[in-house]
Amino acid sequence: MTPLAEKLTARIRANGPITVADYMAACLGDPEYGYYVRREPFGRGGDFITAPEVSQMFGELIGAWCVATWEAMGAPAPFVLAELGPGRGTLMADLLRAARIRPRFVDGARVHLVEMSPRLRDVQRVQLTQSAERLAWVDRVEDLPPGPMILVANEFFDALPIRQFVRTPDGWAERMVGLAQDGALAFGLRPTHQPLPNQPLPNQPLPHLSFAGYHTGDEAAPTSPQDRVPVIEVSPTRTAVLHTVAERLANASGAALVIDYGYAAPAHGDTLQAIRHHHYDDPLAAPGEADVTAHVDFGALGQAARAAGAAPRLLLNQGEFLYRLGLAERASELSREKGPETRSAIAAAVERLAGPAAMGKLFKVLALSSPGLALPAFDDKSDEQEARRAAGPTGKDG
Ligand code: SAH
Repeated sequence: MTPLAEKLTARIRANGPITVADYMAACLGDPEYGYYVRREPFGRGGDFITAPEVSQMFGELIGAWCVATWEAMGAPAPFVLAELGPGRGTLMADLLRAARIRPRFVDGARVHLVEMSPRLRDVQRVQLTQSAERLAWVDRVEDLPPGPMILVANEFFDALPIRQFVRTPDGWAERMVGLAQDGALAFGLRPTHQPLPNQPLPNQPLPHLSFAGYHTGDEAAPTSPQDRVPVIEVSPTRTAVLHTVAERLANASGAALVIDYGYAAPAHGDTLQAIRHHHYDDPLAAPGEADVTAHVDFGALGQAARAAGAAPRLLLNQGEFLYRLGLAERASELSREKGPETRSAIAAAVERLAGPAAMGKLFKVLALSSPGLALPAFDDKSDEQEARRAAGPTGKDG
């Protein structure tokens, strides 16, 4: 049993089963034994590799996006450059390096990192002291200073807790973590007489399945054996964080990019997962020693953005987003005059970041902004122009 499993077992014995959200929050953020608090998750020797750790191209292209967005905002200085959950600080370092083409951007940026782990804050400090003159850390999105802002979040929302609900023949129940007969952590159900506000009712369409004007992709959440019992996942925490970001953008100029794995068209399905040493594990097997996350419901985030007055754009797959920003061009630039080994490593990184069988399709990019701002890669007219060109002289708009 892991130390956190012992701590949770004692807690459940004393107070009864806990929600999946409480379980996730403890797994990742327990001040003594939480995964991000204690472990070094990233990289080959860790448990997983995120996009910025795959290649510098990821952060550089996002840097180019930030600079173009900042120019569209009228090049405000100072402005808040925020990142949620910066991990090792790699994305921000690559972003700021790419942004050096506009010294006023780098000079004007007040870099704010939202990070709960004191250990990772230290890693970020070491990584970023050379890159930015002013660095600040805050605990929560609410603590970001006011004013114009550009915000990025890569693989942050998947780490925020979800709750799971199941429709049983007797009505709605919440999936809980309790103890089995033998004392091991086990899933169970607790009836909820009063479905949560906004909870879908049996045999009615889920209210967040369709909403006007918003793209619903072609894929549903991945399925698992538990899918035979339809599980509905909701995340009040994620919605609240996104709502806070969106409110800021509705009141001051700015934009945000949320990148994560998840689904555009919600489905009934249990997406809670644990990753340990690059393999999926039972989420209850080793609390504190595995990364316990869940897929992101981008539909719900888009809805929260709209409700707060910040326009969400059509969701892009990560592959499409990176190619629109010039991934192919950047890769060939980096490959120039390099040996075959480096060239094939760069090609492999492109495939990993943007290939449909790797991160290109499962990962999605949600962009939102203050009203009236045109966002690079999302609001470009180039697609339309492309389509017209393809349509040729007989094309409607000539
Ligand atoms: N963006 C990075 C790291 C992703 S891992 C990358 O792409 O490599 C998730 C990050 O979010 C970690 O830095 C973790 O410590 C942080 N984090 C998770 N939950 C958090 C919370 N509730 N508040 C603040 N930071 C959190």
